[in-house]
This record gives sequence, structure tokens and C-alpha cells, in this order.
Amino acid sequence: MPRYLVIGGVAGGATAAARLRRLDEKADIIIYERGGHVSYANCGLPYYLGDVIRDRNRLFVQTAAGFKNRFNIEARVGAEVISINRGEKSILVKDLAAGEVSAISYDKLVLSPGAEPVKPPIPGIDADGIFTLRNVIDTDRIKKHLVEKKPKKALVVGGGFIGLEMAENLHGLGIGVTVVEMADQVMANLDREMASEVHQQLTSQGVELILKDGVSSFEKSGNEIVTRLSSGREISSGMVILSIGVRPDTKLAKEAGLALGPRGGIAVNEFLQTSDPDIYAVGDAIEFMHPLTKQPVITFLAGPANKQGRIAADNIVGGNTKKYCGSIATAVAKIFSLTVASTGANEKMLKVSGIPYLASITHSASHATYYPGATQMSVKILFSPSDGTLYGAQIAGYDGVDKRIDVFSSVIGRGGSVRDLIEFDHAYAPPYSSAKDPVNIAGFTAENILDGLTRTIHWHEIGGLDPTSAMLIDVRTAGEFKTGTIPGAINIPVDELRSRLGDLPRDKKIVIFCAVGLRGHVAARMMLQSGFDDVRNLAGGYKTYSLAVNNIPGTVGACC
Ligand code: FAD
Repeated sequence: MPRYLVIGGVAGGATAAARLRRLDEKADIIIYERGGHVSYANCGLPYYLGDVIRDRNRLFVQTAAGFKNRFNIEARVGAEVISINRGEKSILVKDLAAGEVSAISYDKLVLSPGAEPVKPPIPGIDADGIFTLRNVIDTDRIKKHLVEKKPKKALVVGGGFIGLEMAENLHGLGIGVTVVEMADQVMANLDREMASEVHQQLTSQGVELILKDGVSSFEKSGNEIVTRLSSGREISSGMVILSIGVRPDTKLAKEAGLALGPRGGIAVNEFLQTSDPDIYAVGDAIEFMHPLTKQPVITFLAGPANKQGRIAADNIVGGNTKKYCGSIATAVAKIFSLTVASTGANEKMLKVSGIPYLASITHSASHATYYPGATQMSVKILFSPSDGTLYGAQIAGYDGVDKRIDVFSSVIGRGGSVRDLIEFDHAYAPPYSSAKDPVNIAGFTAENILDGLTRTIHWHEIGGLDPTSAMLIDVRTAGEFKTGTIPGAINIPVDELRSRLGDLPRDKKIVIFCAVGLRGHVAARMMLQSGFDDVRNLAGGYKTYSLAVNNIPGTVGACC
């Protein structure tokens, strides 16, 4: 009877163990989890802290007793694996309550130790009231602080998705929240103009957002923590959530001499086997080749961890038959009423990988605008200039973002192109979509770019235009123009443009923009077909431009 040991009993580990049992009824299967709980919902922790999930028990998908009853799997909680002896194929386990250490042998071992929050050596970082959020123990500590200390202000350090989910949930409890982020944008998975939509959402909800500033020290002052920023600014708050990022928890693997990859994660082959053939590894702790960029990556996401757990179990029981093809890190987050999602590669990743790309930005309605409740979503896609292969997509909106991002993910996952987006055969009735879905519209626009029907210019290129050789034309209505425009632009509404073409210079670069890009495209086509050679349409229109040129878009005067 083989013995399979699993280290880490949450996303990847619990999945691997349950799948192992479904494939091998006879095996001896033991999960070791150093925390107090197995198979809990990390992703639900911010919402429990914000009282959105009120019953703590709802966080526990499966218990140790449940594992025993249903799967005949021993799930040992409070049990930390302290070393792996690969020569003897055994591990040393410490019972954290009793302090006892015991050895146990294995036939196959699965590592799913997850990731640990980054905690840089900032003076005062260990002060009472400063928290990281990784597990139920952290959650209970934060909850206790919220209940007992009733902080009125909270500082969230780091604008990643966990930090922002915490910001929203603390804000929902009536706590004043400040988010400080060292980069010039939150959510590194998004490109700048898409992150700007998140900035606007945060500030419009009353969250103070400080960008391009880092923490230099923390100091306890009574019940408050005084956080000093690099800029010299001081922020006093009743609690601090540190959410600066996570790194793969590779201590055990490293000490056991398993190979690590260039990004610092546990190296695995396509079968999720480590450098030791009897040890498999899954989840946040591993790195693998990104399917598009072919660069090593680590994804800190629950979906890949669960899928990898299943594949590792299949390969352990059935021999190495199932290949892991990598993850394009499809992700979604709720930031107050905004939903932001991304899949595949963003501009930064493509640049670093030296992959040429084109970008298009469209703003489409979530469903038919004549049916009540339609909202606009911003869709950015990145694709190959040579054959239109879709590389990445990012969406920010209020409704239907999750379903669209999954469509993009599916097209990218099978190597599809922007032309597949045009053909995407979607379900349509007015409450759900339009006859042309936002996915189709992204495809139409990208195809126009690819086929040379339209040439785009991006928001960050506008500042570099030379007024002596370029002319900016705002083709929105006079009323829209009055609410704010790009400095230097003249206003010729699209419906008047045809009759005024004779007034416009033919020796200049013409940059056209409208609210979101559609009227701009109509105008650009009109001009190109009327003998104007160098005509560009501003991608995403004035909406994208005005959001992106301001780091904190809540301060922008007008936006269409
Ligand atoms: P984990 O699920 O973290 O499990 C690792 C376990 O191993 C830990 O419980 C740890 O105690 C245990 N362990 C480590 N070393 C040892 C040892 N030596 N001995 C015994 N036990 C050990 N992802 C999403 O896709 N969507 C979300 O919305 C989302 N929200 C999140 C919110 C929060 C607050 C957090 C913390 C994470 C969130 N994630 C989300 C990320 C997701 O939870 C992780 O990607 C996923 O859990 C990784 O699975 P894993 O098995 O690799 O690690």
C-alpha cells in the first residue's frame, strides 16, 4: 500500500489529497498542515473581516474530521513539517502543541506550502496593530483588533488585490482608509490607464490613495501607529495592513536541496515533478513557464493551485501522464462597485519579453443601452502586429466583466487571435449583452488596426506631439468639448467634419479623439478616404486619456 504525504492542507494540498484518494482507495494519505485548519477559503478572509461573510464557519470548506469521514485521509493540523530526508524518503514532523517531533516515510510527497507575505526590515514593523493577512490565524488576530480596539483609521500598505480588498472591507466597517503604494499605480497586473479606473473608484468611494510613496518607519504612539512615508508625510492610524506582496514559501524545499527556479519558486517539470522524481510541488510555491512569454512565472492564484493539485495526483497514481500547460493568470477583483480583471500578458510583461504588440482600448456597454441598467466597461487587449494572436486582456467595469474576461482567457489559452473575437458567438438578449458584445467590439477594433483601416495613438504619446506638425481635433459635440478637453485641441464635431475638411491642413499629423473612440474612428476613416495621409484615432478616447494622465483621477475635472 503506497503512502502519499501532502505538505500544506489548503488550496493545492487539499485538492491533491482528495484526488489521490479518488484515484487510489487503498493508499495511506496524510496531510500535514501547520495552521489550525485545512481546506479553508483564503479568498474569503477579507470579506469575513468586513462582516460581508458573517459566519466564520463558512470559511471552512472541509475540516480534518470531514477529510477522515469522507476520504479516509488523515489531516493533521498544528503539524509542521520541519525537514525532508530525500535519501531515506521520510519527513520530520513537529506537533506544534505537544512539541514532539516524529519521522514518517513516504512513497510520494506533494509540496503545497503556499506563499508568505513580504515583510521588509522597516523600523517598527513588528509593532502591535500591524498585520499581514495570509491565513485564519492572521484573520482572527485582525478581527480581535477590530472588535476590541475599534480603530477609526486604517492604513493599507500596498495596492495589490489583497490590500485593496482589505481597504474596501475596512471602509465598509466605517473605518477611514488610506492606501499607500510605492508604484505610480495600484494592481501591477493592470496597465497604467486601466489601473487609473481603480484609482478613480477608490478615491470616489472616499479611500485616500497615496501613490509613489513608500513607508520608511512605523512607531507606536499610544493606541495609534504613526507611519512615516519616504516623502516625510506622517499618517496616524489605529491599525496597519501590510500587503506589500508575497513570495513563494520554499524554505523546506531549499533545505532539502530541491532545485529552485530563477524567480525563486520551486522548479517543476511539465508533470509538476520537482528535481526529485518522488516529490511533486504545486501552488503558490512553484514556478513554471508562462505559456505566452515563455518566461518563468509564479502565479499567486487559487485556480492554478487547485488545477495543479489535481494534475500532480493524477501523475502520482497513474505515472506521468498529465502535463501542466501553465497558467495565463486570469484574475478578477471587486473594488467597491468596480470589477477589474486581467488575463494573459500585460504591456510590461510583453516589453520585458521583447514581444512586439499592438494595443486597442474600447469602451462598450455591458448590455443593450435601451434596456435599463447598462453600464460601460473599458476593455484593453494586446495582440500580435503580424498575425493578431491575442496576448492579453484587461477589463474594468461594473457588470459582466467576469464573463468577458473568461472569454478572452479561453481565446488566449488556445492560441486564438483577435479575429476569433469577432466570431465569438455569444448569447444575446437585451438584459445580458448587445447584438455586438464587448468581446466582438474589441475584436472589430483590433482587426481595423491590424488591417490598417485605422491607426491609433495612445494616451501617453499625446504629450510628445509637436503642435507645429500635429493637430488635435476633438470630434465630440460643442457641449462635451466645454466640459474639458485635451490642451491644444480644436473642436469639430464629427457631424460637421465632412463639410470642414477643406479648412484642415494636409501636411500635418491629425490626431482625432472623441469620448471613447467610436466617433473618432468614423472621423478618421472619413479623413483617410479624403486624402489625409497621417490620421490617428486616440485609443479609448478622452475617457482613457483623462483617467490615465491623472494619477488620482478623482481630481480630473471632466470625463465623458
Ligand atoms: P495555500 O492555500 O496558502 O496553502 C499552503 C498551506 O501550507 C498553508 O496553510 C501553510 O500553513 C501550509 N504550510 C506551509 N509550510 C508548511 C509546513 N512546513 N508544514 C505544514 N504546513 C505548511 N486567489 C485567487 O485566485 N482569488 C482570490 O480572490 C484570492 N484571494 C485571496 C485572499 C487572501 C487574503 C489570500 C491570502 C490569498 C488569496 N488568493 C486568491 C490566493 C490563493 O489563496 C492562493 O493562491 C492559494 O491558496 C495557493 O494555494 P497553495 O496550496 O499553494 O497555498
